[in-house]
Amino acid sequence: MARRALIWHLFPIYLLVIILSLLSVVAYTVLSFRTFYLEQVRLDLKSRAALLHDQVVEQLNAGDGDALQELCDSLGHSSLTRITVILPTGRVVADSEQNAAGMDNHSGRVEVKQALNGGLGYSVRFSDTLDKQMMYIATPLLSAKATLGVLRVALPITAIDDTLRSVFRRLAYGSLLIALVAAAASWVVARRITRPLRALGHGAERFARGEFAHKLETHHSQEIDALADTMNQMAAELNERMNTVLRQKREQDAVLSSMVEGVIAVDSEVRIISLNGTAATIFGTDVTRATGKKVAEVVRNSSFHQFLDRALHSGESIEEEIVFHVDEPRTYHAHGTALRGDRGQSIGAVIVLHDVTRVRRLERVRQDFVANVSHELRTPITSIKGFVETLLEAPPSDATESKRFLEIVAKNATQLSALIDDLLSLSRIEQGEIPADTLLEGSNVRDVLCHAQHMSDPAAKRRGVLVRILCDDAITARLHPSLLQQAVLNLVDNAIKYSEEGQQIIVEARMVASSLLITVSDTGTGISSEHLPRLFERFYRVDKARSRDQGGTGLGLAIVKHIAELHGGSVAVKSTPGLGSTFEIRIPVR
Ligand code: ADP
Repeated sequence: MARRALIWHLFPIYLLVIILSLLSVVAYTVLSFRTFYLEQVRLDLKSRAALLHDQVVEQLNAGDGDALQELCDSLGHSSLTRITVILPTGRVVADSEQNAAGMDNHSGRVEVKQALNGGLGYSVRFSDTLDKQMMYIATPLLSAKATLGVLRVALPITAIDDTLRSVFRRLAYGSLLIALVAAAASWVVARRITRPLRALGHGAERFARGEFAHKLETHHSQEIDALADTMNQMAAELNERMNTVLRQKREQDAVLSSMVEGVIAVDSEVRIISLNGTAATIFGTDVTRATGKKVAEVVRNSSFHQFLDRALHSGESIEEEIVFHVDEPRTYHAHGTALRGDRGQSIGAVIVLHDVTRVRRLERVRQDFVANVSHELRTPITSIKGFVETLLEAPPSDATESKRFLEIVAKNATQLSALIDDLLSLSRIEQGEIPADTLLEGSNVRDVLCHAQHMSDPAAKRRGVLVRILCDDAITARLHPSLLQQAVLNLVDNAIKYSEEGQQIIVEARMVASSLLITVSDTGTGISSEHLPRLFERFYRVDKARSRDQGGTGLGLAIVKHIAELHGGSVAVKSTPGLGSTFEIRIPVR
């Protein structure tokens, strides 16, 4: 049903009441007026009849019909009254308006009957004879107790209707005017009632839109003002609560978004209620796109789905490691807890994802490292043990053979010692025993290179290669001289090992853009490209046997890489098999 405005509930009722009251007033007035008038006419006719009675009786007794007719005519004309004399038989003997002889028997007329019965006859009706609405009064004509006939006097009452009509017309016009004024007044009143209500309605709408600063006006009636005050108070409270809720939400969002852990909350239908930025990144989506969607639409990872299912249905917190592949595989430690409603029913779950990729990688590296170290140590130790046992159990009779055995033992011991030295250096660098603030400002780079060259001199001589240095005297940088010297020495040592007799090794240092670039180039064996990406890993060797034979530990380049990183720099290699290799250390200067 269409709803009407309040004014259309009030105004028609007002209007109806006004119209009904006016109508009843008019009707009552008209009716009273008519009754009063008729009563007046009746009394008037009655007194006229009384006045005429004796004269008519006299003429009747005299038996003079013409004189009676004359009397009726003259009195009738002078008083403007119709006068009729009727015998008890009903025959009309005289009438002031008509020819009595031509008139029908009147004994059946109501007023005549009543008069013949001895009372006063009265009737108001339409006269066919005169074609008018008439009032009749009939009284018995009595002479010495005998009823001689009936005297009837009558007056037309059409005048009253005309008068009433004009009165009614004037009343109607007056009422219409009053009705119009009353209607206008009631319209104004109705509007005065509805306008503040409408203003309250608009105010409430603004509150609903969150415009709590808006204040409802309070200068209407007592009741409306009380309502407006209550609504204003309600809006203020609502505003405060909303602000609290918003502040709490902002705080919660700030906490969630600054968390390094991914957090996702789902409802019992596995729809995402909320997730933070980290979780969105883990799933390869964004927060706004994912919120409100089913997890299956956003996350494609069956292990995660199974985990979520378990979290929703198991009574306690659960944990598991899950791998997500977005750009690269990453391992997360997932912690899931079901959300419980008032009655303990499951209404969803919260999952916290903590990235353990680095931890797992480090663990693996450590395991690999331990395995590698054990393996590297075992080879020389097994060799030493074997030769020492042989020397003890069955010493060769030949002195040169014994010497050869001892030389092998000595070489393996040197290898062991080198390995342990390298391991110690590596661990010292890795454990940050050399903090960045020990870097020396303005260290001379050429000095560092010369020291390394000097230390590699015996090996170079043995191999018959020449190590040349190309470096401006003035180049200085912020560095750790002895560590950088070790790095350069490792590179030069390798270059010597993999060069042929008579070849040249060039150690060069120069400033490129804002970096110090140190390169060690040889024209030796070179390295095929498939080995290059892993060359700087610990214990990675292209040719294990050759490396070991040359006293290599497989840690030299790893140490170089760590030293470069300690300086905030990096390492790189270019090599062509058969043509030689160039290793570079790049250290940013600022
Ligand atoms: P190693 O102690 O075996 O030399 P490194 O870490 O220093 O260990 O070097 C790793 C591997 O890289 C070596 O075994 C060798 O195969 C290769 N390599 C390093 N430097 C050179 C070079 N200048 N020319 C050719 N191969 C090299």
